[in-house]
Amino acid sequence: MSKKHNFSAGPCILPQEVFQKSAEAILDFNGMGLSLLEISHRSKDFVAVMDEARAIVKRLLKLGDDYEVLYLGGGASLQFLMVPFNLMKAGNGKAAYTDTGTWAANAIKEASSLGTVEVVGSSRSENYSFIPKDYQAGSEYDYFHCTSNNTIYGTQMKSFPKVDTLMVCDMSSDIFSREMDFSQFDLIYAGAQKNMGPAGVTLVVVKKEILGKTGRHIPSYLDYALHIAKESMFNTPPVFPVYASMLTLQHLENNGGIAAAEARNEAKAALLYGEIDQNPLFETFCVKEDRSLMNVSFKLTDESRKEAFDKAWKEAGINGLNGHRSLGGYRASLYNALPLESVQVLVDVMKSLA
Ligand SMILES: *Cc1c(COP(=O)(O)O)cnc(C)c1O
Repeated sequence: MSKKHNFSAGPCILPQEVFQKSAEAILDFNGMGLSLLEISHRSKDFVAVMDEARAIVKRLLKLGDDYEVLYLGGGASLQFLMVPFNLMKAGNGKAAYTDTGTWAANAIKEASSLGTVEVVGSSRSENYSFIPKDYQAGSEYDYFHCTSNNTIYGTQMKSFPKVDTLMVCDMSSDIFSREMDFSQFDLIYAGAQKNMGPAGVTLVVVKKEILGKTGRHIPSYLDYALHIAKESMFNTPPVFPVYASMLTLQHLENNGGIAAAEARNEAKAALLYGEIDQNPLFETFCVKEDRSLMNVSFKLTDESRKEAFDKAWKEAGINGLNGHRSLGGYRASLYNALPLESVQVLVDVMKSLA
């Protein structure tokens, strides 16, 4: 069996070594004569996995003991609701959001059910083709929420605003892909399935001191403080996604950490955008300065070439290149585990079409 060049947007490519090791753990975990899937989540061996999975996040993001790391269920989508439950004041709560894409809009919708949401920056009317930059969020807001990378339209925040309130970021599709000062955020969340593991678990990194200040009753599962007290084992955790995420992050750490991943990601993006810019058959959906390093959304300038292009990339062993159903066109997701060679294969196909 030869592996495909996998450009899927999520679930997505992970390091081959992670597939190998997690497959072994399903058959025989740590030489116990038992599968990872049949042992108690409270066993010493799995508690060690959860401890390491939580600790490695803080090592990679260079965060101190004022932050807690959680692995939760419900996807990033549940975080759209958990964030306001934990941070929006009861009664007259108010939060500032940017509307930079489908996921940001979903976050706004959920938060609106608990209080006032003010959209301080939006590119909705321009079909999300850029990242809004001239806005402020002052202390009148309980928190500010942004989405670092627009997975569908292919835009990415290159810098983050200085706000006068808590800073919350949905990093689902670019976490661990680039260096930044992660301590500027009070809360970060990410569904694992875009850049750090399989579907089924969501990473939450939260500064402890911001919790418990809303005066709101929070149902048990939605309460970050409870999950912290229970060390991410309030209920039975999704053991396999947590284990495979831990392996993915160890692989990242052993290969130069985030800085080295960023350099590889920049090289991949430069190769593909370079081809899009010089090839008259292709163009991106968004403005140049806000282009994402993770999700390259593009389209043909001449739709009559669609059949020929689709045939060519499929024959080249490429998988997952179709654009999101809401946008059409193509999307090449260049997550950490995708090798430069796969991008070269795609670029060669694009060149031969022209
Ligand atoms: C995929 C995605 C989500 C939704 O993630 P689920 O885990 O499926 O709920 C949210 N935000 C962003 C930026 C995404 O890319």
